[in-house]
Amino acid sequence: MRRCAACRREAEKESFLRFVEFEGKPLLDVAGKLPGRGFNVCPSYGCIRQFVKRQFKGKVDPDGLYTESVKALKEYLLHLLSLAHKSGATVVGQDSIKGLTSPEGVLLFADDLSDKTKKRLRREGWLTLDGVFTSEELGNALRKERRAGAVFVERVGLGRKFYETAKKLHSLLSSR
Ligand SMILES: [Zn+2]
Repeated sequence: MRRCAACRREAEKESFLRFVEFEGKPLLDVAGKLPGRGFNVCPSYGCIRQFVKRQFKGKVDPDGLYTESVKALKEYLLHLLSLAHKSGATVVGQDSIKGLTSPEGVLLFADDLSDKTKKRLRREGWLTLDGVFTSEELGNALRKERRAGAVFVERVGLGRKFYETAKKLHSLLSSR
């Protein structure tokens, strides 16, 4: 168990964002592999704000750190999506997703997908990232020529890391 450096909430290591101090500033350690002293922070705007205030005494802009963290998580997720896809943990396309029986995973909707399609594909128990990526970004991550409007990542194998990271991004985005 770890403790949030801002609100002191206790939780599993995987559920926190990890920041390391780099050249006097906090840097989000997306993959959890950077050396040095780390700070665990809840994936929320409020805790990032409080953490910055407490540890960096007004020398760091919390809004800037929030924006950078969202950006870093998005980039890392696209990287993980490529890996998950290569390992066979992804299902691409509306019809294939519709027929799925997976109990857990992440559903990605591109920002231009219609509400009707979204409604058709959403499922209870699945984490949904709606409009976080463009269909081009999703297509690129899957190494497809075409764009991808809907992608499902199963919470198995490499898809587990994807799930954890997607959960943090989802929480971060909905906290503001
Ligand atoms: Zn917290």
